[in-house]
Amino acid sequence: MKSAILSVGTELLFGQVTNTNTVYLSQKLNLMGIDVMYHSTVGDNPERAKHELRRLLEEVDLVITTGGLGPTQDDLTKEMAAEVMGVELVLDKEELKKLESFFIKLGREMTENNIKQVMLPVTDGFALPNNGGTAPGCVFEKNGKTVICLPGPPREMTAMFTESVVPYLYKKVDAVIFSRMIKTIGIGESQLENDLQPVINGQTDPTIATYAKEGESCVRVTSKRATEAEAVAAVDAMVEKIRGLVGQYIYSINDEELNQVVARKLIEKNLTISSAESCTGGLFASTLIGNDGISSSFERALVTYSNRAKEEELGVSRETLERFGAVSEETAVEMADGLRKVTGSDLCISVTGIAGPSGGTEEKPVGLVYICLNYKGEVDCREYRVRQLNRNWIRNYVVMLMLRMVYQKIK
Ligand code: ATP
Repeated sequence: MKSAILSVGTELLFGQVTNTNTVYLSQKLNLMGIDVMYHSTVGDNPERAKHELRRLLEEVDLVITTGGLGPTQDDLTKEMAAEVMGVELVLDKEELKKLESFFIKLGREMTENNIKQVMLPVTDGFALPNNGGTAPGCVFEKNGKTVICLPGPPREMTAMFTESVVPYLYKKVDAVIFSRMIKTIGIGESQLENDLQPVINGQTDPTIATYAKEGESCVRVTSKRATEAEAVAAVDAMVEKIRGLVGQYIYSINDEELNQVVARKLIEKNLTISSAESCTGGLFASTLIGNDGISSSFERALVTYSNRAKEEELGVSRETLERFGAVSEETAVEMADGLRKVTGSDLCISVTGIAGPSGGTEEKPVGLVYICLNYKGEVDCREYRVRQLNRNWIRNYVVMLMLRMVYQKIK
C-alpha cells in the first residue's frame, strides 16, 4: 500500500512548530509495511490544501492528514477532505453527546462553533474517537482511496493512531516490515562494509545498510514479508550471518545505547564501579546513572576538576601534577588508583583531558584525553586525541570512549 502524510498548519510552514507528527507516522507506517511516498505540508488555506490532497490521491492509496480539526474557522481539514472525497458530513449524535458532557464537566458553555467538530462522515467513512481532546478524527473511504484525518496535538494524534488507526490499517495491509539495528564499536564504517561484502552483495530481502554515528558503526537489517513472524525469522537469520563475519564488534542487536548495555552487564555480572572525572565533569556518571537498577553497581562519582581536588580526594601526588601535568597518563593512573583505595570498587575509571577551547598547547592540544581503567588492580591507561569541535561535543565523545573501555573489559 502506498501512502502520503499531509500536515496542515501555518505554524509548521513558519517553522514555529517542528513536524514531529510526520516523523512519528512515517516510522509507524513503515513498520506496518505501508510505503510512505510523500511528506507534504500546507498552511491553513483550503484551496491549497484541497489541491495538495487531490494531487497526492492521484498517486497513493492512503493519505493521513494531521492538524486542523478544531472548532475555529481556520480548522478546515475535515471539510476539505470531505469535499475532495465527495463524502457528506453529518451531525454525529454520539460524538455531540460526548462533546456536551466534556463542556459540562469543565463548567463552561459550549459555543456554537464547536458543533463543527462533530460533523462527521457516516456513509463512506466513520469517526475516530478522541480520548484526549475535543476533536474526533475520521476516516473517509471511497473508490479505493482512503483519507484519515487526525488531530494536530501530538499527544492526541499518537493516541488516536495507536488506538484506532493501527487496528484499522492492519486489516488492510498485505506486508509487514521488520528491522533490527545492529550496533558495533571498534570498527569503522568502511571496514564494516568491507567485511560484510559476502552478505551485502546481491542482497534483496533482507536488505542491509551500514551507518556511521559518533564513535560507532551500525547495520540495519530489514525484511518485508507477508507476516511478522516471517519477517522476524528472515532478519534474525541474517543477523546470525552478520555475527559470523563481525561478531566481535557487535554490542547490541536491539538498538540499545552503549550506556544501557554497559549498565545491564555491570548489574548482571555483579560488578561495582566508581568514577573520577575531570574534563567530563560528571557526565560519565550521570549517563550511567540514567539506567534503572544501576544502584547495585554504581558506588561513587567524584568530579575532581582542580589539581587540589585530585590531590585531596584521590591522593594524586603534587610531584606528579607538577612534573607531568594534570592532563597526563601519570595523573590519570594515580586518579584511578586513588579512587580504588577510597572505594574498593571492581572498576575504577578516571579521565583527565583538555576540553578547550582554551588551555591547549602544541604539545598538549585541545582534545588530548587520558582515560584510565583500573580493574581490580589491573591498569589500562589510554591516550586519545579527540577532534576539537567544542567543549560539549568533546565531553560527550569522551564519555562514549569511557563506556567503550568499560564494555570491552566486562563483555
Ligand atoms: P485542536 O483541537 O487542539 O484545535 P487541531 O487538530 O485543530 O487541534 P491544530 O490546531 O492544527 O490541531 O494544531 C494544534 C497544535 O498541535 C499546534 O499548535 C502544534 O503545537 C501541534 N501540531 C500540529 N501539527 C503538528 C505536527 N505536524 N507536528 C507536531 N505538532 C503539531
